[in-house]
Amino acid sequence: MEDHLVFPPATKRRRRKAAGECDCAEPRLVVAGRGAQYPTEPTKEMSPIAALRTVVCRVCGASYKLPWRLAPSF
Ligand SMILES: [Zn+2]
Repeated sequence: MEDHLVFPPATKRRRRKAAGECDCAEPRLVVAGRGAQYPTEPTKEMSPIAALRTVVCRVCGASYKLPWRLAPSF
């Protein structure tokens, strides 16, 4: 009796819209706070504020889970 599978069961991958996580090549990120939306941008390191706020992508409407910071132009 085989104790492992050579291949996982085949699954069909479908393009899902706003499945909960942004996967855009060029996301437009905003963070909501105090009744306004502030522009943000992806960054390499998680900033303290990033842990406290949820950023959403205006392109796909999903939340953005990677590190971000407030846009410097703001
Ligand atoms: Zn997106």
